[in-house]
Amino acid sequence: MALLEIRTFPDPVLREKARPVTEFNEELRKLARDMAETMYAAPGIGLAANQVGVPLQVIVVDVRDREDDENTGLLTLVNPRIVAGDGECVTEEGCLSLPEERADVERYCKVTVHAQDLDGALLEFEAEGLPAVVFQHEIDHINGILFMDHLSALKRAGMKKRLRQLKAQTADVG
Ligand code: ZN
Repeated sequence: MALLEIRTFPDPVLREKARPVTEFNEELRKLARDMAETMYAAPGIGLAANQVGVPLQVIVVDVRDREDDENTGLLTLVNPRIVAGDGECVTEEGCLSLPEERADVERYCKVTVHAQDLDGALLEFEAEGLPAVVFQHEIDHINGILFMDHLSALKRAGMKKRLRQLKAQTADVG
């Protein structure tokens, strides 16, 4: 296993529309394992492949309380999409690719997700609450969408400015 570098705004890979996975091979399983390790180390509750520089439709999610035991809540979804949504729920979100930024985002309260597992088997399930938010956030990523895109133009502009300043400071210190 290996920790992968998490790409941050304005890295262009975050704006790429990820390609569907067509080969369910060992390379895919390795990517998924490395993404999970990277998510746990961050720590985060979800990670999309674009965020580690790989424009493929793969996400890992674990919304479980980590106080318990390791890795048991891990869900890896390949080629996931939201096929139905219901309600309007506002949740404060953050993102590993937008360091230090948090904002209220409105999304569906309940979603139906279609995806495949690492063997290519079809999955269909419903989610609500925090898992529904995380699935929408991560599926946005593989479509090149960031949570800032759901905010007003004014809030988004402020966020971009702060993120560029943060990146410039980080570059200064190496
Ligand atoms: Zn994110």
